[in-house]
Amino acid sequence: MQQELDSRRLLESRFRYAISHNELVLHYQPQVDLSTGMLVSVEALVRWQSPDYGLLYPDEFISMAEEVGLICEIGQWVMLAACQQILSWQQAGMGWVRVAVNVSPLELGSDAIVDRVADALASYGIPPECLELEITETLSISDPEMALAIINQIKALGVVLAIDDFGVGYSNLGYLKRFPAERLKIDQSFVRGLSHSAHDKAIVATIIQLARSLSMQALAEGVETEQEAKILLELGAHLIQGYWVSRPVSSTDLEVMLRQACVLDPKQLQGAVNSP
Ligand code: C2E
Ligand code: MG
Ligand code: MG
Ligand code: MG
Repeated sequence: MQQELDSRRLLESRFRYAISHNELVLHYQPQVDLSTGMLVSVEALVRWQSPDYGLLYPDEFISMAEEVGLICEIGQWVMLAACQQILSWQQAGMGWVRVAVNVSPLELGSDAIVDRVADALASYGIPPECLELEITETLSISDPEMALAIINQIKALGVVLAIDDFGVGYSNLGYLKRFPAERLKIDQSFVRGLSHSAHDKAIVATIIQLARSLSMQALAEGVETEQEAKILLELGAHLIQGYWVSRPVSSTDLEVMLRQACVLDPKQLQGAVNSP
């Protein structure tokens, strides 16, 4: 137990250092319009390139950062890094790319996040609609009414909002109705079962219908196979994201995809869905 505590403290202190010493890096995963095959936006996913531990994924440090009160610093770093990247892609002639960043529910515990978003946009002169915030509904939002008020203030800045991991955890429909989000991200656990579970298919179909009724775009996460993509097209999903299109990649690798813009051949999918 003592050993575990010590190694955790070490991780924590290394992480504090990492934030201020450029050891964090963003990878980007394309989000593709199913009907056109066009890359319409990307999700930024943080990694920690640690000299001591190697490349670490968020599952290995985000919850620690939440527990020790470092999550707002990460949030700020991610937001600034994403805005800097948006500007540098624009300057490199790729137009204004929309980047979605993940926001920890804990960041919605104080309205300081509103200024962080506004500052990040202003620092790089980014049009607000190029920045999307992905928010997960969880019970760790201790004061949902206050969180909703903060979300509305962020929304008023003109940024785009998405609900992440929809369908698992705490998804309150009354809350959803009042949540000013443009996108509903269907959790990958349902996508995983699409090709073999009638239940998962029914749940995904229902979430897509729900999104449509609320004038939101349905984005399916974690699409790994062509078959899953075809079923999603059939069910009327707007967007997909997942290894089948691309894994999260470095900004340089993403640039290659941005230059080709169309990353999927929609005709291939359409033809396959419409044929008997
Ligand atoms: P998320 O926001 O739901 O992100 C999707 C996760 O699924 C990413 O894992 C992504 O790499 C992975 N993924 C994408 N496509 C596929 C697929 O086809 N199959 C499978 N099996 N996985 C796929 P990652 O990058 O390890 O991130 C895990 C979680 O960590 C994220 O889940 C998000 O909740 C959190 N996270 C990532 N970056 C940040 C950040 O900057 N700030 C905060 N607060 N949380 C972050
Ligand atoms: Mg996300
Ligand atoms: Mg999430
Ligand atoms: Mg997710």
